[in-house]
Amino acid sequence: MTSRNHREETTGPAGTEAIGARLADDLRPGDVVVVSGELGSGKTTFVRGACRALGVPGPVTSPTFEIGRVYSGRVEVAHIDLYRLPSLAGEDPALLDDYLTPERIGFVEWPGGAEDRLEGVAARVRIDHLGGDRRAIVVETP
Ligand code: ADP
Ligand code: MG
Repeated sequence: MTSRNHREETTGPAGTEAIGARLADDLRPGDVVVVSGELGSGKTTFVRGACRALGVPGPVTSPTFEIGRVYSGRVEVAHIDLYRLPSLAGEDPALLDDYLTPERIGFVEWPGGAEDRLEGVAARVRIDHLGGDRRAIVVETP
C-alpha cells in the first residue's frame, strides 16, 4: 500500500481541533499518532480535538512535569510530549511503553518528528505556521 498525504489549512484552533477529531474517528486501540511541528504550532490543540472525539471530558494540555498523561474516554488515551525530552525516545523508545499500550490510543507530540522506531504508528501529523492564525496540517497515513 502506498501512503496517503492529506494537506489542509486552518485559520484558527477550532479548525485544527476538527481535523484532529476527524482523524480520531479512524483510530482504534493500539494506534499511535505522531504529531510534529514547532512550539506553538498547534500540536496540543490537534490532540485536544482528537481527545474530545474519543470522549475525553477534561482538560487536554501539554504534560509539563512528566512526559505523558493517560486520559479516560471511550478508550484510554495516552498523550506524550517530548518537547523537554527529545533525547529520551532517541535513546530508548521502550521508555514510552509505560504509556503506549495495545489497549490505548496514543498521541506523541514530537517536535523533531520523523521517528521511525515507534510501533503501531497509524498516522503522522505535521503542523506548520503559515503566519498569524493560519496553519498547514499534513496527515500522512501509511
Ligand atoms: P504546541 O503543542 O504545538 O506547542 P499548542 O496547541 O499548545 O501548540 O498551541 C497553539 C497555539 O496557537 C494556541 O494558543 C492556539 O490557540 C493558537 N492557534 C492559533 N491559530 C491556530 C490554528 N490554526 N491551529 C492551532 N492553534 C492555533
Ligand atoms: Mg504541545
